Amino acid sequence: MPENYIAGRWVGAAAGARREIRCPADGTLVAEIDESGPEDTRAAIAAARAAFDDGAWPSTSARSRGDLLLRVADLLERDTAIIARAEALDTGKRYVEAEFDVADVVSVFRHFGHIADDEAGRVVDTGNPDVVSRIVHEPVGVCGLIAPWNYPLLQVAWKVAPCLAAGNTFVLKPSELTPHTAIHLMKVLEEAGLPAGVANLVVGDGPNAGAPLSEDPRVDLVSFTGGLATGKRIMATAAGSVKKIALELGGKNPNIVFADADYDTALDFALTAVFLHSGQVCSAGARLVVQEELHDRFVADLVTRAQQIRLGGPFDDKAETGPLTSMAHRDKVEAYVAAGIAEGAVLRCGGKRPDDPALADGSYYLPTILDGCTSEMSVTQDESFGPVMTIETFSGEDDAVRIANDSIYGLAGAVWTSDAGRAQRVAGRLRMGTVWINDYHPYVAQAEWGGYKQSGIGRELGRAGLEEYRETKHVWHNINPAPQHWFSV
Ligand code: NAD
Repeated sequence: MPENYIAGRWVGAAAGARREIRCPADGTLVAEIDESGPEDTRAAIAAARAAFDDGAWPSTSARSRGDLLLRVADLLERDTAIIARAEALDTGKRYVEAEFDVADVVSVFRHFGHIADDEAGRVVDTGNPDVVSRIVHEPVGVCGLIAPWNYPLLQVAWKVAPCLAAGNTFVLKPSELTPHTAIHLMKVLEEAGLPAGVANLVVGDGPNAGAPLSEDPRVDLVSFTGGLATGKRIMATAAGSVKKIALELGGKNPNIVFADADYDTALDFALTAVFLHSGQVCSAGARLVVQEELHDRFVADLVTRAQQIRLGGPFDDKAETGPLTSMAHRDKVEAYVAAGIAEGAVLRCGGKRPDDPALADGSYYLPTILDGCTSEMSVTQDESFGPVMTIETFSGEDDAVRIANDSIYGLAGAVWTSDAGRAQRVAGRLRMGTVWINDYHPYVAQAEWGGYKQSGIGRELGRAGLEEYRETKHVWHNINPAPQHWFSV
């Protein structure tokens, strides 16, 4: 079956090109799928444009749209095993983690299904009794949705659910490495009764299948999640037709541990902060900033535990984390670590591929700790998106905040302390979209997510995640019109 979904039909790439999807855990062939080009994306944009301009979806009641999203949530929950398996094969992540991700996807659809029809607008008091002045929300139009490979369906859900709740139509381009769950989502949307042309999917790479979404003037909004360099390119291209843009980019997230923190809990979370999903998490706490007096003991214990983390494929019950997403990505992580060591960082563990011959065909990389780092080094400033923790020390509160904020990014960070006042003071001074206190990683669909500084523009989830996909219109109704005689003739 072809994999592009355009105007309610499954169609192959116009040029007939194909791409192999391989599981990064062992290189086995998962499937061969369409490799789309600009002509496919332009056809999908035409379908989304027609469905928006001439179709019923944008004027369907917000409650009906919300109810459809709630049906989608139920169908996705029903298909948990199918989706988790597909995601595990595409990404190489553990099947159990993929199951957690599906539960998160379901909660995102439920959240936007529930809030689709609240706050329809407001009435403005103009001071003139002859005027009814209303603020109403309307859909933006055709949306181009571009997603990454680390949480393939979850990142898609953060965009598709609010996009539909607000009454838009869209063209989705998932990562070329992990397309299968986005394909499944189109089937679910169809089953839930979404009209043809509202949801469109093109599978293919960024420069060919993705770029037309920011170039084409028929697209009104581009929402992108991915790397900083790609985000800048998309922003520059979108300026050509003054599109609305939402960008969720990278992060280099500090995990600040004060000496008065609960030791065992802070240690445990310092590991999950960065080594979960082998560091391929935009909010990974890859930059440990630890108080000087705690450093030696804390780092020694981290190294001991990091060396015990078990690597393995998606269906290996003993595995605690999986491979990197591709051999090419592992090459980048290796180059990043080498650059750090050349700059003076001290390798405390990892820094290489595992020796285990059973892992030789996968793109695995050992959990790595680089000690003795400073803010000037590339390893503390650049995102590795791999299992690499850098360690810096601080003396006091001001020092910790200064180091943590010394970054072009501002996505997330954490502070560990038993002093509640200090926790709140530090949280208030961190220039980041999410701050955890005595915790790392949790998020809920009801709370906004997004970045300060070069981590992005706009917010996903929460209420603001819906506003991204809405225009705001002021309707002024003079109910007692009469000549004004401003001019005498
Ligand atoms: P990427 O930028 O390489 O690709 C992301 C998507 O953009 C892919 O679908 C890709 O095909 C597409 N793309 C590439 N070039 C394009 C172009 N010129 N025009 C249109 N589309 C194009 O990123 P990635 O490697 O897939 O993902 C990793 C990055 O994503 C990391 O930097 C990570 O921090 C970031 N990320 C951020 C968040 C967040 O919430 N802030 C969440 C997940 C991932």
